[in-house]
Amino acid sequence: MTQLIDTDASIDHQTLTDAELLRYARQVLLEGWDIDAQLRLKSSRVVMIGAGGLGCPASETLVRAGLGQVHLIDDDEIEASNLQRQTLFLPEDIGQSKALTAAEMLERINPLITARGTVARLSADNAYELLDMATGKPSLLLDCTDNFATRDIINRISVRFQIPLLTASAIGMQGQLALFEPQLHTGCYHCVFGDPSANNGPDTDINTEADERTCANSGVLASTTGIMGNLQANAALQYLGLTKNPLTTKLLLWDGSRMQQRLMGYRQDKNCPVCAV
Ligand SMILES: [Zn+2]
Repeated sequence: MTQLIDTDASIDHQTLTDAELLRYARQVLLEGWDIDAQLRLKSSRVVMIGAGGLGCPASETLVRAGLGQVHLIDDDEIEASNLQRQTLFLPEDIGQSKALTAAEMLERINPLITARGTVARLSADNAYELLDMATGKPSLLLDCTDNFATRDIINRISVRFQIPLLTASAIGMQGQLALFEPQLHTGCYHCVFGDPSANNGPDTDINTEADERTCANSGVLASTTGIMGNLQANAALQYLGLTKNPLTTKLLLWDGSRMQQRLMGYRQDKNCPVCAV
């Protein structure tokens, strides 16, 4: 496991510096977003699993907006076919670690924040260590992965440690987004999509669409990951800055071919083997 650690113990989460006030001026001006919201964002720590098509735009927007600490976990290396949509990478980065390259680029984009990359694959066994649980819970987990099986693992970690999980997916010209809050019993990824090995979740029409296909075997339009990553950042900013979940018990479905977005309600499955026990 390789780590690029850049922690700055001198960061003051109680006030905004002149440089921060200048950089975030347009945001602090925004109605409904004030200094307190900006300070909450500054004091937040987000762990992102996946530094690819979703992770690049989501992390870039969050870091530009002033998220204090971001930690990217990904064991992949950058390939030529990633450059079509993975916006933090350049041709000369091919062969380098996605997590480390992305973290370095994020700190170049905003030197006022802390970005860290870890080359690893998150699992039940290494979750406590990788999420730095010994130093406290992350504010939010961002699932930016590209397959159903990994999402199921991240969901189980979210429920086990009671950390909110903002999960996004993007395939072809379609995407999905949900924000689960296990501490509020809102239901979890398993409640909505069921078992990754069974194809028989409560919403099988969505499930069968989402489980088999990945960007690697089905393709994805460059704009789909950009849109979904930024919708994910949009939900994260409201959750972290305004302590508001804009997707409580709602699954967002984006269809890029029709330029349509809709919200579908869900409830906690009282028999869910992950979150109802
Ligand atoms: Zn559940």
